[in-house]
Amino acid sequence: MENKLRVDVLTLFPGMFQGPMTESMMWKAQDRNLLDLHIHDIRDFSTDKHRTVDDAPYGGGGGMLMRTDVVVRAVESLVTPGTPVILTSPQGRVFSHAIAKELAGYDQLTILCGHYEGIDDRVRQLVVTDEISIGDYVLTGGELAAMVIIDAVVRHIPGVLGAEGGADVESHADGILEGPHYTRPPVFRGLEVPQVLQQGDHAKIAQWRREQGLRRTWQNRPDLLLRARLTDDEKYLLAVFADEYNHSQ
Ligand code: SAM
Repeated sequence: MENKLRVDVLTLFPGMFQGPMTESMMWKAQDRNLLDLHIHDIRDFSTDKHRTVDDAPYGGGGGMLMRTDVVVRAVESLVTPGTPVILTSPQGRVFSHAIAKELAGYDQLTILCGHYEGIDDRVRQLVVTDEISIGDYVLTGGELAAMVIIDAVVRHIPGVLGAEGGADVESHADGILEGPHYTRPPVFRGLEVPQVLQQGDHAKIAQWRREQGLRRTWQNRPDLLLRARLTDDEKYLLAVFADEYNHSQ
């Protein structure tokens, strides 16, 4: 059965979501009624005539902070009990395939985008249930992080990818990277599509893909192999790759 995910985003820059959230797969997910996306302007929850949302930090220091009264009012106006409230933050748990899959299991998510120097910490203490970082670097605001999270989560909703392929066979799904892909023409500038892919033996193709995925992981992200669940044959293949490498040096 197909399930639908409602996502509420709280931001000071709603216009940033135009484009990334209105094209391609994110548009399709909404068109197929699988993603119900609502972008809310935090300024609408300010109570003064200048629509103020930020103020200077206590104790000094550069930058402005988003005010706790405005942000908490915004979150509480939306959230129903049990709904995760995710703060985008460089201090959160680092986003991954596993977290995307976990979040896709909810019916509703609220994502809060910080900006400026960040948000008054009382917001985190009062209404935030999860903090997610999209990597160990600092962005100007949480909007791009929210879009990354939404995109990766929505791909796990059954029915979103349709015939385009499943999120469970792509890189990171089972701890390793995907191997290379090819389409026509069969030969381009002397580079030929591997014969096994052209011959149509599905068992051989599956085995070749797994081996190529392992090879690519070994080359590009050997750190992943420490946690990947590998068969004895696959472990043997890693030794073969290492041997090939040593002989090529
Ligand atoms: N002063 C904060 C710190 O050092 O931890 C950084 C604030 S940052 C300039 C402004 C906002 O961008 C943050 O509140 C957060 O919402 C978002 N942000 C920045 N880097 C991020 C990351 N790696 N992942 C997710 N959100 C991020």
